[in-house]
Amino acid sequence: MIKEQEIPKYLKSTESNISKSNRKSKHKHQYEECLLQYRSTFIGKTRLNTGLYTYCTICGKINERFKENKSIVKNYIRTVDTPIGKCYSHISGEELYEKYHDKLPVFFIEDIYKEKYVNLEQNNNQDGE
Ligand SMILES: [Zn+2]
Repeated sequence: MIKEQEIPKYLKSTESNISKSNRKSKHKHQYEECLLQYRSTFIGKTRLNTGLYTYCTICGKINERFKENKSIVKNYIRTVDTPIGKCYSHISGEELYEKYHDKLPVFFIEDIYKEKYVNLEQNNNQDGE
């Protein structure tokens, strides 16, 4: 009867720690849709906005949203009939968040105009950690 040999645990765990630090090395950006939440101030009042964007799943770089035919968000742009003719408007942040926050990753960023990257750690359930 052969007894199975036990592998010391510390030998197994070394691999996973290395990959993280190489995240921002040269790569082709892989964009996925996401929702970004950010604060804006209007007449002294701060509110939380939600917008549709894409981010690179490797480094977190923020990019413009996908074209409508590639997006899972339907009716992002809608036509509204008004007394002065047809107008285009897009889904409000509230509606966007309500409908899609469980379908798309949501990131919070402090300043939408300054920050170019999302913090991937905020929404990091895919690494199995
Ligand atoms: Zn990238």
